[in-house]
Amino acid sequence: MPPPAAATPLKPAAPFLPFTRPTIDEATVAGVADVLRSGWLSSGPQVKAFEARLSEHFGGRPVRAFNSGTCTMEIALRIAGVKAGDEVITTPLSWVATGNVVLEVGARPVFVDIDPKTRLIDLDQAERAISPRTRAIIPVDLAGLPVDRDRLNSLAAKHGLRVVEDAAQSFGSTWKGRRIGSFGDFVSFSFHANKNITTSEGGCLVLNDEREARLAEQYRLQGVIRTGHDGMEVELVGGKYNMTDIAARIGLGQLPHLDEFTARRRELALAYLEEFDRPEIAALGIGLPPANFTDSNWHMFQVILPEGRMAARRAAIMGELHEDGIGTGVHYPAIHLFALYRRMGWKDGDFPHAENAGRNILTLPLFPAMTRSDVARVVSALARRMGNHLNP
Ligand SMILES: *Cc1c(COP(=O)(O)O)cnc(C)c1O
Repeated sequence: MPPPAAATPLKPAAPFLPFTRPTIDEATVAGVADVLRSGWLSSGPQVKAFEARLSEHFGGRPVRAFNSGTCTMEIALRIAGVKAGDEVITTPLSWVATGNVVLEVGARPVFVDIDPKTRLIDLDQAERAISPRTRAIIPVDLAGLPVDRDRLNSLAAKHGLRVVEDAAQSFGSTWKGRRIGSFGDFVSFSFHANKNITTSEGGCLVLNDEREARLAEQYRLQGVIRTGHDGMEVELVGGKYNMTDIAARIGLGQLPHLDEFTARRRELALAYLEEFDRPEIAALGIGLPPANFTDSNWHMFQVILPEGRMAARRAAIMGELHEDGIGTGVHYPAIHLFALYRRMGWKDGDFPHAENAGRNILTLPLFPAMTRSDVARVVSALARRMGNHLNP
């Protein structure tokens, strides 16, 4: 005898909500299939077309595509001539790539603390950190909130520094109505799967002129310069950083959705701020991001847990939210406290605001396919789980 059917079937749990998920339309899926059938998989017509579209997007500036947003920064530093003995000022609150690229070219990163309100590099401290060896500055638009470009570029001009904007997270952000990438010095973007526009893996670099673009092409592929049908020359050490046509085709399918993705992210971020503004939730003392609905592309929605009221509970809360079907992330632990960087002399207490963020920041789910009710679910689950951890 089969067991009797349960009288009340279990309500299916809500599907797991990851902290981010790319939105790829069916036309892009079909376009990638076409590339696979075309017989040309490496860098070819799709990469050329993607670069042309990106250049248009950035007001005609030269743009080259690569296989990551990390190598674009390294190559920008090489084009700028940054080398051993030079210093590059940057923020400790970023993906570790931002510090690593400086080490890759043999230079020394000089970290300065963040502004705790914006969570971005404190430009006053950056200016004080300039020495005769400083060659460049790498600002990071964490969560898509742009660093103040007026102050950044005037500081760079005043002190003769090159700027490599780590705009990995700010594709679609603006500064005073101008697209990030359409002005400034070097601007580096990532198309990693988690970014607002993806190519699965990839990146692009916005350059100043054709001379820099030619150098970028050399650094991108073994230093090779091709001439005519049979000519080839190598005059510098390049790497293997070219984008595939498969990746470029994904990017071509993503770009037309940029404005719609950004608008949707802004709506969801506003919904988050409204949920966090409810009195019983506001009373928890959670640190919120600045309410910027003009410049930011809202790459992430990040809160900072109140350390005074619940020290070192982030991992526990992340685990409990996972049980609730909610994915979260940490972006990022402070770079200067990784073992590699400690060996170079950095230590706890060097940058208190970045360290507090590193210990307590939490990225909540935010991506275009989410709904307003997902936002409400995340905030009430976070509030409930936090309630069990608060000090009396
Ligand atoms: C994603 C990211 C990078 C690196 O990009 P990849 O494409 O993964 O190499 C660098 N900096 C920041 C701030 C990022 O978010």
